[in-house]
Amino acid sequence: MATSAMVIVGAGEAGVRAAFALREQGYQGSISLIGDEPHLPYERPPLSKVGTEADSARAIVAEARFAEAGISYRRGSRVCAIDRVEHSLILASGETLAYERLLLATGAAPRELPGLHYGKRIHTLRTVEQAAAIRCAMREGQHLAILGGGFIGLELAAMGRILGATVTLIEMQPRVLMRGVPERLALALQARHATEGVHLFCGQGVENIGEDDTCVSITLANGQRVSADALVVGIGVQPNTALAAEAGLTLENGVAVDGYLSTNDPDIFAAGDCCSYPVAVYGGRRVRLESWRNAQEQGSVAAANMLGKAEFFDSVPWFWSDQYDLTLQVAGLADGAVSTVMRPLSDGAEILFHLDDDGRLLAASGLGREGAVARDIRLAEMLIARRAHPDPSALADPAVKLKSLL
Ligand SMILES: Cc1cc2nc3c(=O)[nH]c(=O)nc-3n(C[C@H](O)[C@H](O)[C@H](O)COP(=O)(O)OP(=O)(O)OC[C@H]3O[C@@H](n4cnc5c(N)ncnc54)[C@H](O)[C@@H]3O)c2cc1C
Repeated sequence: MATSAMVIVGAGEAGVRAAFALREQGYQGSISLIGDEPHLPYERPPLSKVGTEADSARAIVAEARFAEAGISYRRGSRVCAIDRVEHSLILASGETLAYERLLLATGAAPRELPGLHYGKRIHTLRTVEQAAAIRCAMREGQHLAILGGGFIGLELAAMGRILGATVTLIEMQPRVLMRGVPERLALALQARHATEGVHLFCGQGVENIGEDDTCVSITLANGQRVSADALVVGIGVQPNTALAAEAGLTLENGVAVDGYLSTNDPDIFAAGDCCSYPVAVYGGRRVRLESWRNAQEQGSVAAANMLGKAEFFDSVPWFWSDQYDLTLQVAGLADGAVSTVMRPLSDGAEILFHLDDDGRLLAASGLGREGAVARDIRLAEMLIARRAHPDPSALADPAVKLKSLL
């Protein structure tokens, strides 16, 4: 049996960050990073944004850095089981690998509608191969249909229009971005998509999806039919928990970890999209985030704790989305908010602050062209972290610097 003291399963954002953080934090033993994809670890956000090549992924780190840092990166290698008693992993190759501490950074997989044949004209989006297949239907003369008005669906819709395709987006809910984005900003984005020529069907269920050699046909609940060259099903993801489940680790909307990102086995940690954790700033409410920065930050903290440093994870949730020339940023979680204050910024940008019944700032959402909202969202994040109760009239007044409220 091969031995590696620190082993990370999953070579995405969280796993790669953790591997390098182990070294940066002074660890001198062996580190193995095991990923089942055949590539160098790559960034996922560019896969749904314009400005990247369809078939070339943006690497998270250059290949040489693995050797420089003494990290053994095993690509195309799937971990099939964890033997917690033996402290070892079983790989698809049949090999076993012993660990002292283990990090699960297995990410998430797109939800699929059952009964469809994925890969030819019907796709989901998580990998660089899927992005390249979808990109084929993103040019003039092609019709791309998208099921689901979440971030992935909307970013792909924007990308499709920019690249010249006809785009139809179908959302079952009455509006896009029902989860985690305030109505005002979601409707502003929805209006922008309509202006850009996206055919939007909101509040529409799907009756049937059929596929033949020439097209995909989608029959809506109202009987209308959409015929497209390709369909992307963007209806959310589910955490990759099979390994953890079979090993008897506690699950709760993902691998359940504590504030130190430790599972119920003190030698096994989890980070990124695959795990749920108690968010300190909201009294320990358990959430699972699907966000790039969260994966990075949890990777770093998990590495520290694999080394016994007892670092508490207390970041404020944050994510962004780019559509056309607009950027949406959300800091914090708005659930529980009873009032909203709007702060207008220049060039049509705006920030919404979400407050609870005690006047505490819970979250802030901003929409504007490129970097317009970044600075204020960053300051809002600091206010949220400090559990601040800012004066609503000061929040609403762009002449009052948010920094002065800290
Ligand atoms: C198209 C797209 C666009 C996005 N855009 C944004 C954005 O604009 N803003 C934002 O904040 N976030 C965005 N995200 C989300 C962000 O990319 C994810 O939150 C982040 O990549 C999660 O990182 P992770 O390391 O937890 O998981 P992943 O990146 O999914 O990595 C997990 C890896 O583990 C591998 N794996 C799983 N099981 C095993 C096993 N048993 N053995 C070996 N390997 C295994 C998987 O194949 C995968 O390679 C986007 C995601 C996608 C897909």
